[in-house]
Amino acid sequence: MRIAVGGFQHETNTFAPTRADYAAFESGGGWPPLTFGDAIAPRLEGANIPAAGAIGALHAAGHATVGLAWGAASPSAQVTKDAFERIGGAIVSRLADAGPVDGVYLDLHGAMVADHLDDGEGELLARVRRVVGPQVPVVASLDLHANVTRAMVAASDGMVAYRTYPHVDMAETGTRAARMLLDLIRRGKPLAKSVRTLDFLTGIPSQCTTIEPGRRLYALLERLEREHDTVLSFTPGFPMADFPECGMAVFGMGAEEARVQVAVAALRQAVADAEGEFRMELYAPDDAVRRAMKRGAPGAPVVLADTQDNPGAGGNGDTTGLLRALIEQKANDAVLGLLIDAPSAQRAHEVGQGGTSVFNLGGISKIPGDAPLSGEFTVEKLADGRFTCTGPMFKGFRMTLGNMALLRSRAAPGVRVVLASRKVQAADQEMFRHVGVEPRTQRIMALKSSVHFRADFEPIAKEVLVVKSPGPALADPAEFKWTRLRKDVRLRPLGPVRA
Ligand SMILES: [Zn+2]
Repeated sequence: MRIAVGGFQHETNTFAPTRADYAAFESGGGWPPLTFGDAIAPRLEGANIPAAGAIGALHAAGHATVGLAWGAASPSAQVTKDAFERIGGAIVSRLADAGPVDGVYLDLHGAMVADHLDDGEGELLARVRRVVGPQVPVVASLDLHANVTRAMVAASDGMVAYRTYPHVDMAETGTRAARMLLDLIRRGKPLAKSVRTLDFLTGIPSQCTTIEPGRRLYALLERLEREHDTVLSFTPGFPMADFPECGMAVFGMGAEEARVQVAVAALRQAVADAEGEFRMELYAPDDAVRRAMKRGAPGAPVVLADTQDNPGAGGNGDTTGLLRALIEQKANDAVLGLLIDAPSAQRAHEVGQGGTSVFNLGGISKIPGDAPLSGEFTVEKLADGRFTCTGPMFKGFRMTLGNMALLRSRAAPGVRVVLASRKVQAADQEMFRHVGVEPRTQRIMALKSSVHFRADFEPIAKEVLVVKSPGPALADPAEFKWTRLRKDVRLRPLGPVRA
């Protein structure tokens, strides 16, 4: 069979400071760069990426794939109209030019908002559907942070979402989507579908699946799948996209409509019953640093998650609140990273290894409550930002982060900061080893990440504290100024609805 394969991934925080333009997809921001046609399969091969898993499964089953376009960019504010129309347009026009195909697989995120569209994936799926008509199955894999919409459900024959956060199962989810697509082609008729939404939002730190209630709910999902012969997904959503359909959903597909409905209703009820458990303790920077200084030790660092400036949720990785707290309290054996500040990284390279100078670190995005941090720092190590990740989440991702540097504070010599020039969330230990820091030997690791870091850092951590310092990726969705969200949603677990 001939299966068309494309991908267009963006997680949109409509409250974030920077938009995703075409160049953001060309560079990829930690993902492979925007790629077209036959180049897609070799470019993605071996990486923990949904399309890589899908293509691998399709080829292993003896089918041919037709590459359309594949692109992803760092989470940020809206995708520009230009980027959406060029990349979405390439997927659709290449599909039209490909001639007859037996099925279409798309590697999507599910929380894309464009300048001119609330629901990027719903629109893209609808355009794809118009090309192939009603008979050719269209299946998408989605991120666990998808905000699943009615348009997405209507235009696709099947969707499956990641089941892990940290997303260690991205490639596996692509494989699952490919299997569903082949199943649909063999059946020659659609699967029954059911979708149920929930009426509360939860911050992303508590969506983690290595802690409760996520761990238990995804275990239940797999049990219900077996009991009811249904492929189930639970997407807790991306609670930073201000449009009516933002939020959590449970959905399923299967041969028998009644069983699909029972499975989806049971999982939805379990999520609803767990609402209170999605609340999470968040630390002020000073409190987090104080606790970490007491409890962290070389060999068992305390890991501080600077969640609100997470580049994986729309932050630019340049706020200084947590770094300031580490320096003011003169923490020892503490490293913060990655602070995304290209001018300072450039300056470090001019100063040279071993040199000392005054730096004005971060504060570039002018987030309310944040400012650049000025002080004398010594340049301990310089690097070119080219390395390959090794942790469970980013395994095989080839990073090109531009100039990188390790600086040591003169005011607080126990505090070091890792600078990079292109944004990516600090979720892999190689990002620190690249500048000579072995994370395990520190007392405190302060990471600009919300949850993904847990895959690689939780095994070496004494404990993890989620910290609320300035940034655009608010840990408590009730703090956003929602204007377009539907009105009957509680803005945090057991919290208020929008006024
Ligand atoms: Zn995600």
